Amino acid sequence: MEMAENIPCNSVVGGNFKEVCPEKVIRFKPPLYKQRYQFVRDLVDRHEPKKVADLGCGDTKLLKLLKIYPCIQLLVGVDINEEKLHSNGHRLSPYLGEFVKPRDLDLTVTLYHGSAVERDSRLLGFDLITCIELIEHLDSDDLARFPDVVFGYLSPAMVVISTPNAEFNPLFPTVTLRDADHKFEWSRMEFQTWASHVANCYNYRVEFTGVGTPPAGSEHVGYCTQIGVFTKNGGKLSEPSFSQQCDQHVYKPVYTTSYPSLQQEKVLKFVLVGELLIQVDRLRLRYQRMLRDRDREKDQGPKPGDTDSCPAPHLLLGAVFTEAEKARIESTPKPFCEGEKFYIPLRRLLTYPRLHRLCADEDRVRSLIADSVCLSSDGSAVVVDLHNSWDYRPEDN
Ligand code: SAM
Repeated sequence: MEMAENIPCNSVVGGNFKEVCPEKVIRFKPPLYKQRYQFVRDLVDRHEPKKVADLGCGDTKLLKLLKIYPCIQLLVGVDINEEKLHSNGHRLSPYLGEFVKPRDLDLTVTLYHGSAVERDSRLLGFDLITCIELIEHLDSDDLARFPDVVFGYLSPAMVVISTPNAEFNPLFPTVTLRDADHKFEWSRMEFQTWASHVANCYNYRVEFTGVGTPPAGSEHVGYCTQIGVFTKNGGKLSEPSFSQQCDQHVYKPVYTTSYPSLQQEKVLKFVLVGELLIQVDRLRLRYQRMLRDRDREKDQGPKPGDTDSCPAPHLLLGAVFTEAEKARIESTPKPFCEGEKFYIPLRRLLTYPRLHRLCADEDRVRSLIADSVCLSSDGSAVVVDLHNSWDYRPEDN
């Protein structure tokens, strides 16, 4: 935790500070690093980038937050500290739940050991590059190289740079630089002059903001962390770049993982068959109940007011459908029985929203499920036994 998150101060509580009495220590709430990450997450929400790289990714916390965004298909972290990457890579691997409920789109996450001031063609064509609390760690030679690599060579559609605002530092008890590894800390004027010059040189526009609101009475010092958001003029997202063709692989890959997604046939098949079998079983049980109710009515006559003893289709085992969905389902061929075999037309199954979302093409579904599910001879319906040994039957008692 950096000092700016735990500052003795006599100021009135304001903004996102919380006063902790009696020591008069104030803390950022949420912590400043979380506010920085949230800033990036809000940008991702707004711009939906497909390819995102975090330069100086450190212990990969930001990457871990970003990997849940469905729009992101390639997520890359780069850091000069190889040890940090080795010890944190495993945080980025898929959870069990991500296999059970896979993403819609593929996602690959890769960590590279390397410097943000080296050119590596695998980082070309990105939509967003973030440099969170990185530039103040660059010495003057590297800082001079940085714009040419990031803006000139990598040339992503958007770059976010955050760095400490030195004007905030007098609010700390005894601070010259906030971290022993910082080579400099800039005032707002210094950062904005540098950033505007970079934006001008490489045809970007830049907007300035920040996170970490100063306490009441100290508003003049500005945010604790200053942020520049650079947007390439006329830049489109995920444009394949000509220079991508000349491979220049300088970074060392340290870790890579691919997430299961519905774009992968074996994953789609697994999820589709599972979902289909659940729906088939719901319909089978509903059909059994309808037969039982019919037999009971034959024996006892209908109960008063009991016009349709079969449960409404929209209330079956917790599934709730809209009127339009119910109408679509009811417009398709109904399930039926031949002897002890229960037939559920594929056309009907595919109107159920969860299955429809997975794959709406009947022929494709047929080919995906053919070796896992029994189909009727013409392939139009799924066939199962109406009764199976797991069913509860009062006569079994
Ligand atoms: N961005 C992360 C965050 O906000 O949590 C980590 C910030 S940490 C203050 C700075 C990181 O930049 C460190 O992990 C450090 O190893 C890395 N770094 C320093 N110089 C670098 C360079 N030239 N290229 C890539 N990473 C660098």
